Amino acid sequence: MASERHPGDRHPGRLAVQAVRGLSPYVPGKPIRELERELGIHDIVKLASNENPYGPSPRTLSAMRAALDEVWLYPDGGCHELKQGLARHLGVDAACLTLGNGSNDLLVLLAEAFLTPSHSAVYSQYGFAIYPLVTRETGAQAIAVPALGRDSDMPLGHDLAAMAAAIAPHTRLVFIANPNNPTGTWAAPAALKGLLERAAPTTLVVLDEAYFEYGHALGTQDGLPWLAEHPNLVILRTFSKAYGLAGARVGYAISHPEVADVLNRLRPAFNVNSLAQAGALAALADQTHMRSAVSQTLRELSRVEAELRRLGLWTAPSAANFLLLRLAAPAAPVFERLLRRGLIVRPLAGYGLKDCLRISIGLPQHNDRLLAALPQVLAAGAAQAL
Ligand SMILES: *Cc1c(COP(=O)(O)O)cnc(C)c1O
Repeated sequence: MASERHPGDRHPGRLAVQAVRGLSPYVPGKPIRELERELGIHDIVKLASNENPYGPSPRTLSAMRAALDEVWLYPDGGCHELKQGLARHLGVDAACLTLGNGSNDLLVLLAEAFLTPSHSAVYSQYGFAIYPLVTRETGAQAIAVPALGRDSDMPLGHDLAAMAAAIAPHTRLVFIANPNNPTGTWAAPAALKGLLERAAPTTLVVLDEAYFEYGHALGTQDGLPWLAEHPNLVILRTFSKAYGLAGARVGYAISHPEVADVLNRLRPAFNVNSLAQAGALAALADQTHMRSAVSQTLRELSRVEAELRRLGLWTAPSAANFLLLRLAAPAAPVFERLLRRGLIVRPLAGYGLKDCLRISIGLPQHNDRLLAALPQVLAAGAAQAL
């Protein structure tokens, strides 16, 4: 075996298609257990992945426990009951729905179904990190459009006019998160509609509404009413955020039935497990619980926002359950010092935002811990710099 007869000899990883070999993996928020192992500390607060700390309702949890009795059976691959529940809740035909293992799954399916190396996808500079990832894995061209300036009235937000102008004849997908992660910023309805009007029918506009329930409570646009007149619109929503089911992995797409048909053909047969289906259906039936978590979180959002401003810190406008915080210096040391105090937040260097941290809104006592630690940690950094 001295000579390499094949590029895969001893290096089976090299057999992967080129677009995949070039990928950098998505870096998720640091898990609590990992920090416990690394530092031997306890009582850790994770404010790093925009989860809903109020969690699912007791009724949702008992529906999931009941589903355990049938866990030996394969799930309903067609997600019939959940689809019917969603169709009723949203007022759409069930044929418009595709269920995913989180909406992340649907982003992958959309890229696989609509992108090739001769196509392109458009997204904003500070758009969700998964957009470049799913685009690149298909070998398609990624067109990242510069975000709005820091002095605009939606700093770091999507420049929808520039995004519309960046759409080329070979552009198959435009990804727009509204509200956006990691910035929290949202799109003006007229600008969003303007992009939809300008996008050619050969370009699908993917409106990622992962934070819909938070944004909607604050008056951000709901894309659903536009679906009838724009067959190229695809809306993504999830049970991971406001519904408190991030660990269960359920998301869905609402689209023209032909797009749903394409996605459903590509979708792995049992991509949403039976516990997740039962949980999502029960969560949907418990709107009061969800709304109460959203309103408590939004109350805390304003409080944390005001407290950070009082500390002289800048945050981007947010219509979601997190804040993008900009510091006067690189954020990595601040992130590390917070970790040592048992607080996990999210560094954003991967987005080219080295001086920023993203902080999820937690329970009031969690937010208090962050607000108490932050000035100490910043002062420690300033002292070190002297
Ligand atoms: C969290 C998030 C998602 C998806 O999360 P899933 O858990 O995969 O449903 C999608 N888009 C954005 C912008 C997000 O922040």
